[in-house]
Amino acid sequence: MNEVLTTCPYCGCGCNFYLIADRDGEITGVIPSREHPVSQGKLCVKGWNVHEFVNSPDRLSRPLIKESGTLQEATWDEALKKTAAKLQEIIKKYGPDAVGFFSSAKCTNEENFLFAKFARAVVGTNNIDHCARL
Ligand code: SF4
Repeated sequence: MNEVLTTCPYCGCGCNFYLIADRDGEITGVIPSREHPVSQGKLCVKGWNVHEFVNSPDRLSRPLIKESGTLQEATWDEALKKTAAKLQEIIKKYGPDAVGFFSSAKCTNEENFLFAKFARAVVGTNNIDHCARL
């Protein structure tokens, strides 16, 4: 059994816990960190169950592109090229405020900062929001 100290990816509180992995490396559970100044040995229900999504068969691990109404697996290169082309097409036709950017609490602060910078400084829109506000 292995224990790996890490930060909860679900929200900005930043609770710490140990992910428990079995001999095969499969993550099987969570133990809160008593020493961490935020969580102090406690977690909310999301933190206690965070290990469940790692090996979920429903987890998306590759990009999907909708073709003729059906989602098809794609490479990251294909998905990023298609996204960039569509964004450019919409912005050229309707202007930068025709698109919006929606970020995630599962990203790091640095990733969210870059995402906001990209929306505001590169695309030129303030249409940006975050799932933590829902
Ligand atoms: S355990 Fe709950 S409160 Fe703590 S970071 Fe995770 S989601 Fe947020």
